[in-house]
Amino acid sequence: MRNADNLFAPDFQTTPYWWDRTPRPHLPETDPPVAADVVIVGSGYTGLHAAVEAARAGMATVVIDAEAAGWGCSSRNGGQISTSVKPDYATLSRCYGAAVAEAILRDGQASLDFVGDFVGREGIDCDFRVVGRFHGAHLPAKYDALARALEAPNPAFETRAFMVPREDLHGELGTDAYFGGCVFPNHASVDPARYHDGLLRVAREAGAKVIPHCPATSIARRAGTHDVATPRGTIRAGRVILATNGYSGPLSPWHRCRVIPIGSYMIATEPIAPELMDRLFPKDRVLSDTRRLVYYYRPSPDRRRVLFGGRVSVSETDPRKSGPKLHAELSRLFPELRRTRISHSWMGFVAYTFDTLAHIGETDGILYAMGYCGSGVGMASYLGAKLGLKAAGFEGACTGFDGLSFSTRPLYSGNPWFLGPAVMAYRIRDRFGL
Ligand SMILES: Cc1cc2nc3c(=O)[nH]c(=O)nc-3n(C[C@H](O)[C@H](O)[C@H](O)COP(=O)(O)OP(=O)(O)OC[C@H]3O[C@@H](n4cnc5c(N)ncnc54)[C@H](O)[C@@H]3O)c2cc1C
Repeated sequence: MRNADNLFAPDFQTTPYWWDRTPRPHLPETDPPVAADVVIVGSGYTGLHAAVEAARAGMATVVIDAEAAGWGCSSRNGGQISTSVKPDYATLSRCYGAAVAEAILRDGQASLDFVGDFVGREGIDCDFRVVGRFHGAHLPAKYDALARALEAPNPAFETRAFMVPREDLHGELGTDAYFGGCVFPNHASVDPARYHDGLLRVAREAGAKVIPHCPATSIARRAGTHDVATPRGTIRAGRVILATNGYSGPLSPWHRCRVIPIGSYMIATEPIAPELMDRLFPKDRVLSDTRRLVYYYRPSPDRRRVLFGGRVSVSETDPRKSGPKLHAELSRLFPELRRTRISHSWMGFVAYTFDTLAHIGETDGILYAMGYCGSGVGMASYLGAKLGLKAAGFEGACTGFDGLSFSTRPLYSGNPWFLGPAVMAYRIRDRFGL
């Protein structure tokens, strides 16, 4: 690895690359109203999509965020949109039966289509493109496993996916590091912060009040309503929606001990030559591979930089330390990029769950959706909209995820002490294909 200081471009920043073009919005720092039909805690995709539906149903809707609007994962992510369901059909049907398995996978497909439909309908200019995903096999056995998975019975899933053998790899990607892979042509890319910005506009135009820097400090149930306390006043809420995902803190211990906050880290490179970009990323796809410790990457929407993300350390770390580690992996995949410097390095907290599924439901009168396991651009948007419809009392806002048990583990209260050993175990399994 090069001396870390030489790896950073002169204008290096530890804020997300996306914020250069779309800084966090300056919204009026008003005090919250004393009452609202629905109070939504968290202003990412989940919270704002819930707000759009609730406000359009005529509910007085307030969204509060502890930080600036969209400060969480929704303006920090890689902008890759997939079907967002990790377990396969066989696993899901073994656990929940064939009908629920199929419903969950159909929701995955629906969440993939949801963002494109929404941004088209609402006129949001956010570089949304159906570019397809190339998923690389990091070992020969993983290529065979991908091929078998495509042929397995899978009634609602990825019907148009196809395999790419190693000899055709360069048509997809300028690397020799994979043993072929698989293309999912329906997967898409987006500028996540511009998407969030457009969504924020739509929510506010629908009538939702979005109040930044206004943390919810407690939620108390009172005869059919809830009191949501903030340092700037208490809101009496007809309904409460919790949309805090990887940033779910002490506000709701029940939720906190059901999601596992995990840091996901990204870098952007300084601009590279157009010919090099065309050679390395000829199809402009979003990219990932078969390792359990997933790396995900893509060209920036203007095809000038490479955006590269993953989990690089056993414990949470500083973006100045994660940046060089991500760069080392990027250079291993693409040796031609080893002298290209890093312009941005940042991180955010995603929320995993013990069954690797997202969860939507209601507990103690609080509606929630969370636990997207690192794939929430489509799913948080889709389940967020369902939450808003549920808050407004619409029938038919059901999903395959409704009614799934949202489990925790003994001795877990929100501090993932087991993460370090799990990361080390995954590293070993990735290396030996276990
Ligand atoms: C680096 C990175 C890369 C990623 N890449 C991808 C990708 O390519 N594709 C993909 O599908 N997914 C990706 N994800 C995941 C995806 O971004 C998230 O799943 C999704 O944005 C979650 O949206 P959300 O609205 O539920 O949560 P967030 O956007 O995280 O919003 C939660 C909000 O809750 C607020 N909050 C918390 N507590 C309180 C409180 N007490 N009071 C008020 N507000 C509170 C926080 O301030 C925060 O703004 C990535 C995530 C990261 C970090």
